[in-house]
Amino acid sequence: MIYFDNSATTKIDPRVVDAMLPYLYEEYGNPSSKYYSLAMHAKDAVEASRAQVAKLFGCDSDEVIFTSGATESNNLILKGVMETYGGKKHSLAVSKVEHSSILEVAGYMEQRGMEVMYINVDSYGRVDETALAATLDIEPVLVSVQWGNNETGVLNDIRSMAKRCEERGILFHTDATQVVGKLETSPLERSVRFLSLSAHKLHGPKGIGAAIIRKDELGIKTKLAPLIHGGGQEYNYRSGTLSVHNIVGFGKAAELALLRQEEITIRLQELEEHLRHKLVELFPDIVRFNGDVTNKIPGIVNVQFRGTNNELLIKKLSDRYALSTGSACSSSKPSHVLHSIGLTLNEIRSSVRISLSHMNTIEEIDSFCAFLTAK
Ligand code: PLP
Repeated sequence: MIYFDNSATTKIDPRVVDAMLPYLYEEYGNPSSKYYSLAMHAKDAVEASRAQVAKLFGCDSDEVIFTSGATESNNLILKGVMETYGGKKHSLAVSKVEHSSILEVAGYMEQRGMEVMYINVDSYGRVDETALAATLDIEPVLVSVQWGNNETGVLNDIRSMAKRCEERGILFHTDATQVVGKLETSPLERSVRFLSLSAHKLHGPKGIGAAIIRKDELGIKTKLAPLIHGGGQEYNYRSGTLSVHNIVGFGKAAELALLRQEEITIRLQELEEHLRHKLVELFPDIVRFNGDVTNKIPGIVNVQFRGTNNELLIKKLSDRYALSTGSACSSSKPSHVLHSIGLTLNEIRSSVRISLSHMNTIEEIDSFCAFLTAK
């Protein structure tokens, strides 16, 4: 099987597995227990991983809160901020092309009477400057805009958006799940107050991620109502016994991604360029790329094969190649991302997402293109 669905999840790196194994076999202590070495070893391993994840953004270790993944982080931040800071000024603003773990939370809050603004995007899927300015004028409590899109890879200038929010006393969150490990993310200004990410998108284990909750400009921890109450782990933001082996795996995946970050970015750009070039060469009349081809996360290619049905195409390929119609979390519905950038239903139904990893090869892309030509 040749795997081109790396935006859905990635293959775990064997070095990550090796780092995790001792914490499943020998080092099984509970990091919240005290006084004996088994617990202290587990605690030390958790703190070393926390420091490693913090390096992804150049933030402090105690700004990293381990969660079960980006879905939980998005829920914690959006619900936690609105519950803590909502007050009378009850509005939340999210872009129209967010992942379902943001949009579904926004919908849930709307049902509970909160005012939610959905920020328009331009024809590439990038948050529209005019729409953002109009949103900020209404002074929401929190603005949440993804760093990079999981279906098209299109990037937002979140640094500038966060600064504009900060100037107006508005909190800013970004879902960085797809960007981490593929592009430079450090150092990140404090104005990006909240971030979400997930280990399994960067060749780490599933079921572990982080919410990054930055301190304010005075170095004071940002308060947030927790989603999960209990023993007070994770600085009271997220209770529950820590999944030590997963945390260690996350730390190792972060370390490996950081070590080779520039190399990974260049490799992904090369692979993407090769794929685009081949597709245009082989199918000049039916291929059309969705979103922007520059200023994007390298390795995510969203492409229309005009006149084909994406589900049938993916099924036909499925014995040998793994790719998708879009987000794995809402794959049965036509893509809201492609709809927001103005594609017709027919265009959406002929679009597929090919998402690469630096572990893919030029030969795999050539084999895929040759197979497509034969079909
Ligand atoms: N946010 C984005 C942009 C994603 O792409 C995903 C997963 O596809 C998520 C959030 C959810 O991540 P997790 O699987 O860790 O819950």
